[in-house]
Amino acid sequence: MDRLLIVVAHGDDETLGAGGTITLLTDAGVEVSLCVLTNDDSARAWDGHVVTDRTSQIQAAASILGIKRVQVNTFGDSRLDQVGQLELNRVVEREIREFEPDALFTTSMAELSVDHQLASRAARVAGRPGRSGIREIRCFEVRSATDCAEASGVVPTFRPNCWQVLDESHLERKLEALRAYGKEIEKWPSARSEDGVRALGAYRGSQVSAPLAEAFELVRLVR
Ligand SMILES: [Zn+2]
Repeated sequence: MDRLLIVVAHGDDETLGAGGTITLLTDAGVEVSLCVLTNDDSARAWDGHVVTDRTSQIQAAASILGIKRVQVNTFGDSRLDQVGQLELNRVVEREIREFEPDALFTTSMAELSVDHQLASRAARVAGRPGRSGIREIRCFEVRSATDCAEASGVVPTFRPNCWQVLDESHLERKLEALRAYGKEIEKWPSARSEDGVRALGAYRGSQVSAPLAEAFELVRLVR
Protein backbone atom coordinates (compact mmCIF):
# COMPACT_ATOMS: atom_id res chain seq x y z
CA MET A 1 0.00 0.00 0.00
CA ASP A 2 1.41 3.38 -1.07
CA ARG A 3 -1.55 5.74 -1.33
CA LEU A 4 -4.58 5.31 0.92
CA LEU A 5 -7.88 7.14 0.48
CA ILE A 6 -10.21 7.21 3.48
CA VAL A 7 -13.89 8.02 2.86
CA VAL A 8 -16.13 8.83 5.82
CA ALA A 9 -19.42 10.60 6.46
CA HIS A 10 -18.28 12.51 9.55
CA GLY A 11 -15.04 13.83 10.95
CA ASP A 12 -14.07 11.44 13.80
CA ASP A 13 -15.25 8.26 11.99
CA GLU A 14 -11.72 7.83 10.59
CA THR A 15 -10.11 8.28 14.01
CA LEU A 16 -12.53 6.07 15.95
CA GLY A 17 -12.40 3.36 13.31
CA ALA A 18 -8.79 3.30 12.16
CA GLY A 19 -6.82 6.02 13.94
CA GLY A 20 -4.12 3.66 15.20
CA THR A 21 -3.70 1.97 11.82
CA ILE A 22 -3.56 5.33 10.02
CA THR A 23 -0.78 6.42 12.38
CA LEU A 24 1.15 3.21 11.73
CA LEU A 25 0.78 3.63 7.96
CA THR A 26 1.73 7.32 7.79
CA ASP A 27 4.77 6.60 10.00
CA ALA A 28 5.75 3.96 7.42
CA GLY A 29 5.55 6.53 4.58
CA VAL A 30 2.09 5.78 3.18
CA GLU A 31 0.44 8.90 1.69
CA VAL A 32 -3.06 9.26 3.14
CA SER A 33 -5.93 11.40 1.88
CA LEU A 34 -9.06 11.88 3.98
CA CYS A 35 -12.40 12.64 2.28
CA VAL A 36 -15.12 13.71 4.74
CA LEU A 37 -18.58 14.11 3.25
CA THR A 38 -20.19 16.34 5.93
CA ASN A 39 -18.74 19.29 7.79
CA ASP A 40 -21.22 20.15 10.54
CA ASP A 41 -23.21 18.78 13.46
CA SER A 42 -26.56 20.12 12.28
CA ALA A 43 -28.42 16.91 13.15
CA ARG A 44 -28.42 18.14 16.75
CA ALA A 45 -29.83 21.56 15.92
CA TRP A 46 -33.34 20.61 17.09
CA ASP A 47 -32.13 20.74 20.70
CA GLY A 48 -31.26 24.44 20.66
CA HIS A 49 -27.74 23.44 19.73
CA VAL A 50 -25.68 25.94 17.72
CA VAL A 51 -24.43 24.32 14.53
CA THR A 52 -20.65 24.29 14.29
CA ASP A 53 -18.37 23.80 11.32
CA ARG A 54 -16.06 20.90 12.18
CA THR A 55 -13.52 21.51 9.42
CA SER A 56 -10.82 22.82 11.76
CA GLN A 57 -11.29 19.84 14.13
CA ILE A 58 -11.01 17.43 11.20
CA GLN A 59 -7.80 19.09 10.01
CA ALA A 60 -6.31 19.07 13.51
CA ALA A 61 -7.05 15.38 14.02
CA ALA A 62 -5.73 14.52 10.55
CA SER A 63 -2.50 16.35 11.27
CA ILE A 64 -1.97 14.32 14.46
CA LEU A 65 -2.52 11.10 12.50
CA GLY A 66 -0.02 12.17 9.81
CA ILE A 67 -2.63 12.73 7.08
CA LYS A 68 -1.39 15.41 4.69
CA ARG A 69 -4.38 15.78 2.34
CA VAL A 70 -7.87 16.52 3.69
CA GLN A 71 -10.98 17.22 1.62
CA VAL A 72 -14.02 18.30 3.63
CA ASN A 73 -17.30 18.48 1.73
CA THR A 74 -20.23 20.57 2.89
CA PHE A 75 -23.14 18.16 2.98
CA GLY A 76 -25.21 18.27 6.19
CA ASP A 77 -24.83 15.77 9.03
CA SER A 78 -27.43 12.94 8.90
CA ARG A 79 -28.72 14.26 5.58
CA LEU A 80 -26.66 12.30 3.07
CA ASP A 81 -29.83 10.46 2.02
CA GLN A 82 -31.13 13.82 0.79
CA VAL A 83 -28.00 14.27 -1.32
CA GLY A 84 -28.48 10.99 -3.12
CA GLN A 85 -26.14 8.12 -3.89
CA LEU A 86 -25.14 9.25 -7.37
CA GLU A 87 -23.80 12.62 -6.21
CA LEU A 88 -21.88 10.97 -3.35
CA ASN A 89 -20.41 8.43 -5.78
CA ARG A 90 -19.21 11.31 -7.96
CA VAL A 91 -17.53 13.05 -5.01
CA VAL A 92 -15.52 9.91 -4.28
CA GLU A 93 -14.82 9.29 -7.98
CA ARG A 94 -13.36 12.79 -8.19
CA GLU A 95 -11.14 12.09 -5.17
CA ILE A 96 -9.93 8.87 -6.76
CA ARG A 97 -9.14 10.66 -10.03
CA GLU A 98 -7.19 13.39 -8.26
CA PHE A 99 -5.36 11.35 -5.60
CA GLU A 100 -4.96 8.02 -7.46
CA PRO A 101 -5.04 5.76 -4.38
CA ASP A 102 -4.16 2.07 -4.43
CA ALA A 103 -6.07 1.37 -1.18
CA LEU A 104 -9.32 2.56 0.31
CA PHE A 105 -10.73 2.49 3.85
CA THR A 106 -14.32 3.37 4.70
CA THR A 107 -17.12 2.65 7.14
CA SER A 108 -18.97 -0.66 7.17
CA MET A 109 -22.47 -1.43 5.90
CA ALA A 110 -23.04 -2.98 9.36
CA GLU A 111 -24.16 0.42 10.60
CA LEU A 112 -27.45 1.86 11.75
CA SER A 113 -26.18 5.26 10.58
CA VAL A 114 -27.55 5.89 7.09
CA ASP A 115 -24.73 8.40 6.54
CA HIS A 116 -22.16 5.67 7.23
CA GLN A 117 -23.91 3.24 4.89
CA LEU A 118 -24.08 5.81 2.09
CA ALA A 119 -20.42 6.77 2.52
CA SER A 120 -19.46 3.09 2.42
CA ARG A 121 -21.54 2.42 -0.67
CA ALA A 122 -20.16 5.49 -2.48
CA ALA A 123 -16.59 4.42 -1.71
CA ARG A 124 -17.16 0.88 -2.97
CA VAL A 125 -18.96 2.01 -6.12
CA ALA A 126 -16.27 4.56 -6.94
CA GLY A 127 -13.52 2.06 -6.16
CA ARG A 128 -14.94 -0.84 -8.13
CA PRO A 129 -12.56 -2.89 -10.26
CA GLY A 130 -11.82 -1.45 -13.67
CA ARG A 131 -12.61 2.11 -12.63
CA SER A 132 -9.61 2.76 -10.39
CA GLY A 133 -6.23 1.36 -9.41
CA ILE A 134 -7.53 0.40 -5.97
CA ARG A 135 -6.30 -3.05 -5.00
CA GLU A 136 -7.39 -3.16 -1.38
CA ILE A 137 -10.60 -2.07 0.32
CA ARG A 138 -11.22 -2.36 4.05
CA CYS A 139 -14.17 -1.28 6.19
CA PHE A 140 -13.67 -0.26 9.81
CA GLU A 141 -16.06 -0.13 12.75
CA VAL A 142 -17.30 3.02 14.45
CA ARG A 143 -18.27 1.33 17.67
CA SER A 144 -21.08 3.62 18.81
CA ALA A 145 -22.76 3.11 15.42
CA THR A 146 -21.93 -0.55 14.85
CA ASP A 147 -23.16 -1.41 18.35
CA CYS A 148 -26.49 0.18 17.47
CA ALA A 149 -26.60 -1.86 14.29
CA GLU A 150 -26.03 -5.13 16.14
CA ALA A 151 -28.70 -4.30 18.69
CA SER A 152 -31.20 -3.21 16.04
CA GLY A 153 -31.37 -6.51 14.17
CA VAL A 154 -32.19 -4.66 10.93
CA VAL A 155 -28.69 -4.51 9.46
CA PRO A 156 -25.85 -7.05 9.38
CA THR A 157 -23.34 -7.45 12.21
CA PHE A 158 -19.77 -6.15 11.79
CA ARG A 159 -17.68 -9.24 11.02
CA PRO A 160 -13.95 -8.54 11.09
CA ASN A 161 -11.63 -10.78 9.09
CA CYS A 162 -8.52 -8.58 9.14
CA TRP A 163 -6.63 -7.18 12.13
CA GLN A 164 -3.89 -4.57 12.42
CA VAL A 165 -1.77 -5.10 15.51
CA LEU A 166 -0.79 -1.80 17.13
CA ASP A 167 1.48 -0.68 19.90
CA GLU A 168 0.80 1.76 22.71
CA SER A 169 2.22 4.72 20.76
CA HIS A 170 -0.36 4.23 17.99
CA LEU A 171 -3.16 4.13 20.55
CA GLU A 172 -1.87 7.29 22.22
CA ARG A 173 -1.84 9.16 18.87
CA LYS A 174 -5.36 7.90 18.18
CA LEU A 175 -6.53 9.26 21.54
CA GLU A 176 -4.74 12.56 20.92
CA ALA A 177 -6.53 12.88 17.55
CA LEU A 178 -9.85 12.08 19.23
CA ARG A 179 -9.29 14.91 21.70
CA ALA A 180 -9.14 17.30 18.72
CA TYR A 181 -12.85 16.56 18.26
CA GLY A 182 -13.69 18.07 21.65
CA LYS A 183 -17.22 17.36 22.79
CA GLU A 184 -17.69 14.56 20.25
CA ILE A 185 -15.77 12.46 22.74
CA GLU A 186 -17.90 11.32 25.66
CA LYS A 187 -17.37 9.99 29.17
CA TRP A 188 -16.98 6.34 30.11
CA PRO A 189 -18.88 4.01 29.70
CA SER A 190 -19.65 5.45 26.26
CA ALA A 191 -17.96 3.62 23.37
CA ARG A 192 -16.85 7.10 22.27
CA SER A 193 -14.87 7.67 25.48
CA GLU A 194 -11.10 7.30 25.82
CA ASP A 195 -11.56 4.23 28.02
CA GLY A 196 -14.07 2.87 25.49
CA VAL A 197 -11.47 3.21 22.74
CA ARG A 198 -8.83 1.55 24.93
CA ALA A 199 -11.22 -1.31 25.76
CA LEU A 200 -12.02 -1.90 22.09
CA GLY A 201 -8.32 -1.90 21.18
CA ALA A 202 -7.63 -4.50 23.88
CA TYR A 203 -10.62 -6.62 22.83
CA ARG A 204 -9.71 -6.60 19.13
CA GLY A 205 -6.12 -7.37 20.05
CA SER A 206 -7.15 -10.30 22.25
CA GLN A 207 -8.98 -11.84 19.29
CA VAL A 208 -5.61 -12.38 17.63
CA SER A 209 -3.48 -12.84 20.79
CA ALA A 210 -2.02 -9.34 20.63
CA PRO A 211 -2.16 -6.63 23.27
CA LEU A 212 -3.77 -4.06 20.93
CA ALA A 213 -5.38 -4.07 17.49
CA GLU A 214 -7.95 -2.51 15.20
CA ALA A 215 -10.27 -4.78 13.24
CA PHE A 216 -11.50 -4.50 9.65
CA GLU A 217 -13.75 -6.20 7.16
CA LEU A 218 -11.49 -6.91 4.19
CA VAL A 219 -13.70 -6.29 1.15
CA ARG A 220 -11.12 -6.77 -1.60
CA LEU A 221 -7.42 -7.52 -1.87
CA VAL A 222 -5.66 -7.95 -5.21
CA ARG A 223 -2.04 -9.13 -5.16
ZN1 LIG B 1 -20.07 9.02 11.90
